[in-house]
Amino acid sequence: MAKPKVAFFDFTSCEGCQLNKLNLENHLLDVLEHIDIVEFREAMDDKADEYDIAFIEGSISTPQCVERIHDIRRRAKTLIALGSCASIGGINSMKNLQPIESVREAVYGKDKYLFPTLPAIPVSAIVKVDYEIYGCPMSIPEFLQVFKSLIMGKAPIKSDSPVCVECKLKENECLFERGMVCLGPITRSGCDAICPSFGQFCTGCRGLVPNADKNAMTDILMKHGLSTDEASKRLLMFNSYVSDEMVN
Ligand code: SF4
Ligand code: SF4
Repeated sequence: MAKPKVAFFDFTSCEGCQLNKLNLENHLLDVLEHIDIVEFREAMDDKADEYDIAFIEGSISTPQCVERIHDIRRRAKTLIALGSCASIGGINSMKNLQPIESVREAVYGKDKYLFPTLPAIPVSAIVKVDYEIYGCPMSIPEFLQVFKSLIMGKAPIKSDSPVCVECKLKENECLFERGMVCLGPITRSGCDAICPSFGQFCTGCRGLVPNADKNAMTDILMKHGLSTDEASKRLLMFNSYVSDEMVN
């Protein structure tokens, strides 16, 4: 049986998710045994016309990104958003909180007209995305789970419960009890509550659970000592993308 043709593409991002794949360590050879990597800019020069699975890292933030993601979508049977920038807009979407012209000016100065830019948006705002792998950087166990499911022709498992569920299952003491504030109650689980497990509060890198009550979370953050501005910044750090209207 022919191995699936797999390609990796990077858009606006730090490329940390792609590098994180190298942390697959013991699993890397097993993974490579079952696929043909046909395009991966960080590792090879080869190009391909079609892909069974295309992994996309990074958010869409320029007109060129829009054109390119449409082209990849046309060639890919399955398209997967990899990491926070691709799946929810992520850190990049903080730029959307400022007028776009002032962002261009801050970055490019007098040459700003040479560099067209758009609000930073997730891949799903432009093309159909089949699966999303969340996290900054992406979660390796989740990557393996999605990857193995696709190779076996199964639908990957999605997690919609909050980080607090995983945190409680690990019997961690809640960081609120230790005087910290944490976005676990409204953040999508799937990372095994890795940050609270090591004493670090959740910053929301996996995006919000469906129907997250941001107002209630803001009240809780403020009740535990954050100002309105601090609470707002904490909530928006990874989750500034709000709607497809930003595309236009
Ligand atoms: S530490 Fe954070 S994730 Fe864990 S239970 Fe408390 S609020 Fe939830
Ligand atoms: S605990 Fe929160 S910040 Fe840490 S990896 Fe999980 S979702 Fe991201």
